[in-house]
Amino acid sequence: MIINRISSAIKRQDLSQIIIEILIVVIGIFLGLQVTDWNEGRQDRIQEKKYLNRFHVEIIEALKPAQGLLISNELRHKDITDIAKIINGDIKADGISKSQCHSLHMAGIFSSQATALPTMNELSSTGRLSIIQNEDIRTAMSKYQVNVGTWDGVTVSLRADHVSFSDKYPEMIVLDLALANQTFTISNRNNSLFNHVCDLNLMKQNTRFKNDLTKMANKMDAFMVIFLASQVEQLNSLHEILDQELSITHPEQTP
Ligand SMILES: [Zn+2]
Repeated sequence: MIINRISSAIKRQDLSQIIIEILIVVIGIFLGLQVTDWNEGRQDRIQEKKYLNRFHVEIIEALKPAQGLLISNELRHKDITDIAKIINGDIKADGISKSQCHSLHMAGIFSSQATALPTMNELSSTGRLSIIQNEDIRTAMSKYQVNVGTWDGVTVSLRADHVSFSDKYPEMIVLDLALANQTFTISNRNNSLFNHVCDLNLMKQNTRFKNDLTKMANKMDAFMVIFLASQVEQLNSLHEILDQELSITHPEQTP
């Protein structure tokens, strides 16, 4: 239709009509592109909201085990430093408690890996991170991703030069055979269930053991501070920004 009108105007050499018809075509194309852009933007916002909601659920699911792991490692680390204090005479005790003895046996297991956040990995691997408009969320996501590499590197380096106290010092730590029937779960920390026997006097006399104990306390501290506590802090930070963005409040947060 428009082509007919333009060719007829050309035949009549009607310049103003030619300009008007061409303008109609240009404006039509321009409006069409605007509508397409608007529609794509609308679809992106719908997708963004879906991603953020899914990410929020993942963060909450990741936080609980990450916090549990931090707490259990803090307790285990305290047991180890308490043993050092008992040996050093800073804490008065006649012997090593069941909990402390079990922690000594469990010390040196640095098996945890950084918690994966699938939505973040998906957005990053498909190059769609820019769909998230909130710059704070994008920055926090990138920071978390960089740290996953650091955290896993820390775990790998701590696993090197592994010391198992019950293997290396069997005369000081005799494990309760009931441990053989124990089913392991991360949240299960019923140390008092076991009747391991730890010999405080032998520990006091053995410099190699005391050195290993000090090194182990340092490694456990690094594991907590550099990895576990940092991970919890960043998950909490991501959660806080997401709550603000999605206007979510949690019942336990309100006074
Ligand atoms: Zn939330």
